[in-house]
Order: sequence, then structure tokens, then C-alpha cells
Amino acid sequence: MSTIESSERPEERRAADIETEYREIPVENPATGEVIRSIRNLGPDEVADLARRGRAAQPAWEALGFEGRARILRRCQKWMIQHGERVTGTIVEETGKAWEDAQVTELGYAAGALGYWAKHAPAYLADERVRSSNPFVMGKKVVIRYQPLGLVGVIGPWNFPLLNSFGDCIPALAAGNAVILKPSQTTPLTSLLMEDMMRACGAPEHVFQVATGDGETGAALIDHVDFVMFTGSTATGKKVMARAAETVTPVGLELGGKDPMVVLADADLDRAANAATYYALNNGGQVCISIERVYVEGPIYDAFVGKVVDKVRGLRQGRPTGPGEVDVGAVIFPPQLELIEDQVRDAVEKGAKVLVGGHARHDGGRYFEPTVLVDVDHTMKAMTEETFGPTLPIMKVADADEAVRLANDSPYGLSASVWTRDIARGEALARRIEAGAVCINDAQLNYFALEAPMGGWKASGLGSRHGAGGIRKYCAQQTVMTTRLAPRRDLHMFPYRRLTSRALAKGIGFLYGRGKRP
Ligand code: NDP
Repeated sequence: MSTIESSERPEERRAADIETEYREIPVENPATGEVIRSIRNLGPDEVADLARRGRAAQPAWEALGFEGRARILRRCQKWMIQHGERVTGTIVEETGKAWEDAQVTELGYAAGALGYWAKHAPAYLADERVRSSNPFVMGKKVVIRYQPLGLVGVIGPWNFPLLNSFGDCIPALAAGNAVILKPSQTTPLTSLLMEDMMRACGAPEHVFQVATGDGETGAALIDHVDFVMFTGSTATGKKVMARAAETVTPVGLELGGKDPMVVLADADLDRAANAATYYALNNGGQVCISIERVYVEGPIYDAFVGKVVDKVRGLRQGRPTGPGEVDVGAVIFPPQLELIEDQVRDAVEKGAKVLVGGHARHDGGRYFEPTVLVDVDHTMKAMTEETFGPTLPIMKVADADEAVRLANDSPYGLSASVWTRDIARGEALARRIEAGAVCINDAQLNYFALEAPMGGWKASGLGSRHGAGGIRKYCAQQTVMTTRLAPRRDLHMFPYRRLTSRALAKGIGFLYGRGKRP
């Protein structure tokens, strides 16, 4: 039930409004502080209504088959490119992020993902024939099949309103599910635009719906769906898991991170410094897989810090209205500004130095200066707690072993990067880091490899998006075993007889008693 347009007739909407009490939530442009729109805060009854409509719409969507759904998803892909300015402008307006962070990162990802899942869903979800080595099963036909779960609930964060919210809806839709998306109340407008897009591209009514509202709306949604795909903080992720446990509903959790960057003495210094600056500060540092802490080997530490400081000093910050204007945008979520300030203050009190930035700015909007911190250690929040802001703390380490130990000294395990010219050594170090993805001489770009799973270890999540698992999680899997030719009674069936039992025991001993694995 979007606030932009509704399929309901006006008299139905008025009746619904009278019956249901709801509040309006203002949506602000963080780069200017202006309220740009307001959205409805849907209550539990309205969420239940959406769920009923979604369930009613789902069978026809599933019946369209992969080809029919792919046709609509490809139309959406085209629509997104044709309306690129509008999509990017909506993201920029509700987040205050730099134009490129919306256009290249978000729009680029979503347009690619629409085509990817349209093309690959049939192969990922095709019936799979397996052969069993178990003698009782040999000769029988065993097939694994995937069936859409029905109604999927996606709950999204505010940092990437297109990539992380609608992005996770695409494989769920491609699999044949109806989807209800609960975007963050801070950034709901892009999701509402996606609802318009789906309608304009011929998706059946109510197959994709947006539940605008706050955390309570999200919590209510969990009660009605067959799978919850949640992206957000670890604290909320725990609540989502607890709520879903009440109805034994499966969840996918993509949570917080504190991604380490390990720079070895033989690294390409210029590339490492450019990458540290970009991957720590793109999207204003509000990326789950931002570089949040850097460990640099002693011999190159000073040179590395010098290069990073020069680059960060040159960054432009402010209100973006088009491409190429600013590098670092606003702080999207109001309480975040205080959190970043607190982490910088805490670090400085414990002995850190601020080489660039270090302050909040309130000129019209809500900003935190791109900031470089040195002389940091693990007693400081800036090195151990998620920052989600434009800060880059850099720590000197004695060697790679110390760097790996510190990288793993975290409750999080989302992703990490290792920088070295010795590729074999880099790959060996990557395998020692506790994280869902490790890049060598790169960062963040693994997210765009839709063929590979992206998910966190430890407190960074449960399950993954992308790859086969990224669409199969939205399906119930079923094993179908068929027996064609068989005797009237198998040997292991009742009644148990001493002779046959002995023969079977002998057979088991013969098969497994010689240390051979079938
Ligand atoms: P939150 O956890 O605050 O919110 C995420 C979503 O959950 C929002 O839509 C929120 O609604 C909703 N919500 C809040 N309370 C509940 C509840 N009790 N039940 C159900 N839903 C609820 O995260 P943020 O929006 O602050 O996002 C930032 C976090 O997301 C960071 O920790 C970041 O690392 C993580 N993230 C992880 C990614 C990954 O792939 N691992 C990718 C991107 C971000 P509302 O906002 O309206 O209150």
C-alpha cells in the first residue's frame, strides 16, 4: 500500500483511513535538513492486510513461470535505465549521498541484478538429480526440487535504499514469491518508486508491496511471512531472529561489520592508499563493507599515511545535486552523527591523533568531515565498534601475523582485504582471516560478483545473498524419491528374521568395516 499511488479506489482508501489510526513519518533530505515528504506508519492490521493481498497474488505470479517473470524483470531493468535520473535523484534526495554513490553503486547494481536473476533463476532452481551411494537407495531416482516459499518479507536499512532493500527482493521475485518490502523509515521513497516501477512494467497487483513504517511495522511483518530477509544492525538482527522464532520462520541476516584492511610492506602503495581512501569513505563511510580500520606494516606506515592524508584533504563534501560535484555526502541517519563524534572523542582521549577532519558540520545539512585517525589501538571504540561514518583509523603493526591477529580481534566478520604484491602470500593470509569475503588488492567489489555468496561470519550475519544460496533460500526444497522396479518386500522390512538380519549386518560390515568410504 504505497503512499505514492494506490490501486484501491479513493472511497476504499478513505474508509481504510477512517478505520485505521496511523501516523505520518516525515522524510528528510539529510544534505539540507528539509522535510521532503511524509509516509504512512503502517500498523499491524494494515501489515496483515498487505500479507493477505500478497498471498492471494502469489499463485498467479508463480504460474507465470521463469520466462514470464523474467520478461517483467527485464522490463524493470530497461525502465530503471530509462528513468535513471529519477531513480538516482530519489536516492540522493532521501540520503544526501554523493550522486555517484547512488548512480554507479546502487542503480548499477540493481539494473544488473534484475537481468542476472531473470537469466539465472531457472538454472539455480532447476530440478537436480542426485545419485546415492547407499545400497538401500541405489537404483532409485532421487530428485531435489525447489518451490517458492510463498510470501517473503524484506526489511532494509537506510544506507542503500535501492541496493540493499529492493536488491534482496529481486531473487525472491524471480523465484516466484510475492514480496513485501519494509524499508527504513529514514529512506522509504526509493522503495515506493520501485513499487511504481513494478506496476508500470506489468507485475500483477500486490506481487510486490511496500510496507512503510517504523521498527514496529517491521516486527509485525515478521509474523506474516514465510522468510525474513533482514539487513541492518546486529542489535536489531537479534530481535528479528527472536521474533521469527515465535513462528519458526527462517531468516537471512546481513548485519554490521568492522572490516579490516591489512597493508603489507610490499604492497603497491599508491593503489593501497587510493583504495583505503575510497573504500573507507565512499557512501560517506555508510557501507556495511566499508574499510573501517587499517593495519600497516612498519616500513611503509609513514609513506602510506602521508598519501592517504593528501587524498582525504582533497575530498569535496557537501550537498550533491548532480554528478561530479561532491565526493562525500551527508550523514543519513540523525543519531549516527553523535555516534561518530563519540568514537572520535573517545579515540582522542585515549591518545589518538586526528590528521584530517574530526568534526561534525551542520551547515544546512548533517555532515561529518572525512577524517583520518592515527596512533589508534584496540582500547578505542573507533577500532572495535562499527562506525558507519567517514572515518579512517590507521594502525602500525610489526608484521602480517600481528595484523591477522588484530583483524580477527572483533565480534564481526563481514569482509576484509589484504594488500601485497605477493599474491600467494596474500591468498594464504586471506584464509586465516575470519570473514565472509576477503579481497586481495581490492575491496567491496566482491559484492558485485552476483555468482558468489556474500554474507557475514560471527556477529555479521546468518546465511548469504547472491549465488545459488541467494535464491534457494527463498524456496522450500523437496526431495522426491521414486522407486520403479522393486520386489514385493525388501529385505529390511518386517518381519525381522535372524538370518536376514545377520546377512544385512555382514553386508554393513563388508561395506564400512574396512575403512573405505563409499
Ligand atoms: P537497523 O537495524 O536500525 O534497521 C534496519 C531495519 O530494521 C529498518 O528498516 C528498521 O526500521 C527495521 N527495524 C527496526 N526495529 C525492528 C524490529 N524490532 N523488527 C523488525 N524490523 C525492525 O539498521 P540501520 O537501518 O541503522 O542500518 C545500518 C546497519 O545495517 C549497519 O549496522 C550496517 O552495517 C548494516 N548493514 C549490513 C549490510 C550487510 O549486507 N551485511 C548492508 C548494509 C547495512 P526503521 O529504520 O524504520 O526504524
